[in-house]
Amino acid sequence: MTRKLYDEDSHLARFSAAVLSCEEAGEGWALTLDQTAFFPEGGGQAADTGRIGPVRVLDVQEKEGRILHLTDGPLAPGTYDCALDWEQRFGRMQGHSGEHVLSGLVHSRFGFDNVGFHMAPEGITVDFNGELTAEELREIEWEANRIVWENRSVTAEYPSPEALAAMDYRSKLDLTENVRIVTIEGVDRCACCAPHVSRTGEIGAIKILDFMRHRGGTRLTMLAGAAALEDYRAKQDQAAAMSALLSARRDALVPAVTRVWEELQAARYELNGLRRELLLKELEARGETEGNLCFFVPSGFDGQSLRTLVNAAMERCGGMAAVFCGDDETGYQYVIGSKSIDLRAGAKELNAAILGRGGGQKEMIQGSAKAPRSVIEAYFA
Ligand SMILES: [Zn+2]
Repeated sequence: MTRKLYDEDSHLARFSAAVLSCEEAGEGWALTLDQTAFFPEGGGQAADTGRIGPVRVLDVQEKEGRILHLTDGPLAPGTYDCALDWEQRFGRMQGHSGEHVLSGLVHSRFGFDNVGFHMAPEGITVDFNGELTAEELREIEWEANRIVWENRSVTAEYPSPEALAAMDYRSKLDLTENVRIVTIEGVDRCACCAPHVSRTGEIGAIKILDFMRHRGGTRLTMLAGAAALEDYRAKQDQAAAMSALLSARRDALVPAVTRVWEELQAARYELNGLRRELLLKELEARGETEGNLCFFVPSGFDGQSLRTLVNAAMERCGGMAAVFCGDDETGYQYVIGSKSIDLRAGAKELNAAILGRGGGQKEMIQGSAKAPRSVIEAYFA
């Protein structure tokens, strides 16, 4: 039986331990120790990594009461210095404790339960079985940070079955023994096996990034501590770069982007008008034919311009009037019209010839094609 040092002291980053066993396991080795501060994956928190003497700990799993350290090399029996990848572990403690604060507040204020929890470096997602509004979440976020500033105590214990039965806590389990209860003073009490910070001040900051309706409840994405600071830095960098590009203050990016967007829309509208005129001139220059007319235009044309061209070209040819928009590399969007050929009936054969997919009406079909320009031109020649 391995002594669980992470249970006794969540801040133990270095320790020494004796190797009790070492066996080959898959691509590496599985070691057991007499005591360990490496937290095995559980309670929604990933396993710690680090090193035992000269070997790297890649994963830690608890199986049938044994804590297996999966390493990249074998070790002989003996005592070794061990070290956790502490920044990673502390970041996870900040995130996990931050999640308990938020979940505790949502539970006490709205009565909703945390019914799903997933920790990833880019964000912790938490699912609640009730709907929360943006305004409510803003209030909860502020309250959560106030609890961080108040630096409240965070403790873990294994209550006796009698004490547990009388206890009000979240994540109520059917188990009555060996249930670990994590308490945040005056805020939350929850069954959880993971290591947590000792005081809420260590969490640093709690930030809700996003939320959405999910299975009749709410899924929110949050960050805490170092990860929240990293996220703030990344977003500040984005805002600074955008501010320089737009010559706008960082707190006035939305009106600046809106202005640029409106100018772009107006320019596109004008450009499409000019392109349409140009295409109609080109059509005139080609003259009338009993056969097909096939045009290639670069990507960026709107669907309306393409249909206008095809409509005009249909009047000037006996066969098919086709326009392909794009290039060989990215493929083509097409519009094909005809006054004499049933295109809906012929679409299958046509698509097979130009590696395309699409369809439509008897007089006009639309779709995309992957064949190169030379093949398409040869088909319509
Ligand atoms: Zn937990």
